[in-house]
Amino acid sequence: MTAGPNFLATADWARAVKVLQEADDVCLACHQRPDADALGSMLALAQALLLRPAGPPRVVASFGDVPFEVPAILAFLPGLELLSPPGQFPARPPVMITLDAASVDRLGALAPSAAAAGELIVLDHHASNAGFGTVNLVDPAAAATAVLADELIARLGIELTRDVALGLYAGLVTDTGSFKFSATTPAVHELAARLLATGIDPGVVSRHLYDTQPFGYLRMLAGALGRAELDTAACNGLGLVWTTVTRADRAASDLPLDAAESVIDEVRKTAQAEVAVVLKEADDASWQVSVRSKSVVDVARACAALGGGGHARAAGFSASGSPDAVIAALAELLDRP
Ligand code: MN
Repeated sequence: MTAGPNFLATADWARAVKVLQEADDVCLACHQRPDADALGSMLALAQALLLRPAGPPRVVASFGDVPFEVPAILAFLPGLELLSPPGQFPARPPVMITLDAASVDRLGALAPSAAAAGELIVLDHHASNAGFGTVNLVDPAAAATAVLADELIARLGIELTRDVALGLYAGLVTDTGSFKFSATTPAVHELAARLLATGIDPGVVSRHLYDTQPFGYLRMLAGALGRAELDTAACNGLGLVWTTVTRADRAASDLPLDAAESVIDEVRKTAQAEVAVVLKEADDASWQVSVRSKSVVDVARACAALGGGGHARAAGFSASGSPDAVIAALAELLDRP
């Protein structure tokens, strides 16, 4: 791990551990529309806290989506019974911890609770995280928030159970692209080994996260891939490939927006394009835009300029208007040196 601007000091870990050791109530929140790293890390930590050597705190875990729905793809995660909708989350939690949320906005309906929290522990690995807590455990060198959650659980003296490990493993698999991205260090594999040693089945995790789709997904994918456009001049000649997944594509097969999530993984295979983009039309006709790059282009910067965020190789934003206009605005930002 390298010392960056957010290098984690031992004192920050010690402070977080002290707060969490002494708390009677711990309120956990992850970012809106949670992915496996956000929800998996949160549920892992929530379950681990119930095994605290000093006795369990009361635990509330949530994310700020109204209506409150766990993404179907994550319904296999253990610990879902610990979740409450944001309406039941304390308005002024004495101790709150956020996971995988780069900014307070990403907490959605739970942002006011974070602002009013007595102690706010921020556990995250986004480089853009400015540290909005009273204790900031932010390490952009970490491959996933799950890596930091594991560190915190270990420092609390809590042993990994199978259920805790499964949440962390789901986060680690997701944020490393199934151990394919360059953040996959020897330490990542060492953590994976410790998680697997608890008895979890990696095949089950990848089947749930990646390898299971309803039949209608094939039709939706065919529609999206059939409309893909390649612009080899974009991104200063490095190339950009993009497509849309419309409401009509999903409606034809009665699929939720989540189902469009993995379309980017097909589109980004395009050899002639450094950057891949998928515009997913939400039920309210807005676009959820996923952007990926292979090795050079910092897509987080462009997405942040459009009101979104993420990592250098994987980021996103929300937009409205015609797909062509959205792509033109993005391409213009990506052309800048
Ligand atoms: Mn993450």
